[in-house]
Amino acid sequence: MLYSAECNKECMPINRDYRTSWHVVGTHNGHDVWSPSREPGKIHGTTVGVHFESCIGCLKCIEVCPTNVFERMRLDSALVVDPMRESECILCLACEMVCPVEAIAVVSSGGSDKTLDSLLSFPDDLT
Ligand code: SF4
Ligand code: SF4
Repeated sequence: MLYSAECNKECMPINRDYRTSWHVVGTHNGHDVWSPSREPGKIHGTTVGVHFESCIGCLKCIEVCPTNVFERMRLDSALVVDPMRESECILCLACEMVCPVEAIAVVSSGGSDKTLDSLLSFPDDLT
């Protein structure tokens, strides 16, 4: 559970294993919608997944994405972002790094998880 100064609710980080443990329950704007059950979808996108219940609509991912993957949208009255152009993603991981509530998971194939690990670790000669 994350508690962010920018989040006035209890924000659950995205389940990074959702592509293997959740189900596709529909499509929206050309991408899959995933859910842990047959209930309404909770994560939008496969290459770039956004957990709608955690997104606080800060729009930082839109600001940093070099290929304009995200589009803002309203979910009930809340502002969230939709990975409407996920096919344009170049796996740079900028969105994951700026998201204050860990609402985004970029697909791990292509080495993004390893890239993230390398970006977050110090070289041996600096430790
Ligand atoms: S990984 Fe990079 S290119 Fe892909 S959606 Fe995030 S910011 Fe955009
Ligand atoms: S950076 Fe995270 S919280 Fe902010 S709009 Fe993007 S997905 Fe939502």
